[in-house]
Formats: sequence, C-alpha cells, structure tokens
Amino acid sequence: MGIIMEKLVAATRNENKIREIRAILGKYFEVLSMDDAGVSGEAEETGTSFEENALLKARYVMQQTGLSSIADDSGLEVDALGGEPGIYSARYSGGHGDDAANNELLLKKLEGVPAPRTARYVAALALVRPGKPDICCRGTCEGEILTHYQGDGGFGYDPLFLCETGKTFAEIDQKTKNSISHRRRGIDAVLRELERENV
Ligand code: IMP
Repeated sequence: MGIIMEKLVAATRNENKIREIRAILGKYFEVLSMDDAGVSGEAEETGTSFEENALLKARYVMQQTGLSSIADDSGLEVDALGGEPGIYSARYSGGHGDDAANNELLLKKLEGVPAPRTARYVAALALVRPGKPDICCRGTCEGEILTHYQGDGGFGYDPLFLCETGKTFAEIDQKTKNSISHRRRGIDAVLRELERENV
C-alpha cells in the first residue's frame, strides 16, 4: 500500500503554474488543480499587497474544498514609478491582461527616465492549511526595463524586462525562466518553511 499524501489544491487555472508547484511541493502533497477539486469561480483580488491577494485566492479555495491550498500573486515593480504597476500589473492600462497596452503604457511613463530603469518581478506565494498556520513567502527577480522590445517568448512585461542573465525574459527559454523566476523563488521559500516545520 502506498503512502497517503495530504491533498493540496493549486489555486490557479494556469497549467504551467500547476506543473511548477507540483514539481517542487510534490514530495509533501498530492497537488490537485481547481478543476480536479471541483472549485467554481475564483476569488476577487481586493487586497492591497501581493501577499493579501495570494492569501485571498488560497483561502477561497480552502473554504470551498476543506483542503489545503496554495496561491500566488505576482507583478512588476518599477523603482522610478514608485513601485508601479505593482498589484495592478495585469490591468495597468485598464483592460485585464492586455499585455501590449500595458507595455506601451509602461514605456510611455518611463519616457525620459535614464537607464538603468531598475525593476523587479515579485511573487507572493500563500499556503493555507486547515488547522495549521499559514505560510506566505515572497520571491523576487531583479532586472531593468529597456526602452525597446527584445525577444518574442514569455508573456506580460517579459520583452521589456532585462534579467540577471543579460537577456530579457522573452529571450530565454521557459526552462531557464522557470529556474530563476520570482515564482520559483517564492515556491522554494515555501518549501524551506515546510522543511523547517518538519525538523
Ligand atoms: P498573475 O499573478 O499571474 O495574475 O500575474 C499578474 C501580472 O503580473 C501578469 O498579468 C503580468 O502582467 C505580470 N507578471 C507576473 N509575472 C510575470 C512574468 O513572469 N512575466 C511577465 N509578466 C508577469
């Protein structure tokens, strides 16, 4: 008979994120998608920080399923813009997820700002469990915002985000991005917290 693992619902409908979470936390949990767990709808992101929004998403799923859940909330912070677009990254230009319009607005707001226009991607990862303390960790990835687009991979602000490899996130392959990304670092930090609990 196999070991029965605790179930964990990944509070996202993004297959890549689910795969990433499973790859890292699969040694502790049986990771389920929201569909596997029969979750309908999704939480409203009304928080004022990445952490608050990640916790809202994870708690929404835990309330519906009674199971542990992990969620992320992420975005881009640009220093010359006082941390904008921040938690509004997906809807910076108004419409949700309009990457082209968001990038154009970012370039416009940074017109005349000299290089390096320092910035970072941030991801907050929240793990909530019935009867156990919440774990909430942040991962970051430092870089700068270019004045022109470079590369055609990735999504969101990736063609403008020059990362520590000297290339934009749109120029590196998915595997490399997943190994250095803010999200990866946040999930790794959750794993370290879990391991600390288990010593
Ligand atoms: P969400 O947390 O998946 O909803 O992402 C929020 C928004 O932040 C996205 O829609 C993008 O605009 C931006 N963002 C977060 N992570 C990344 C990334 O790895 N590349 C590009 N944009 C990102």
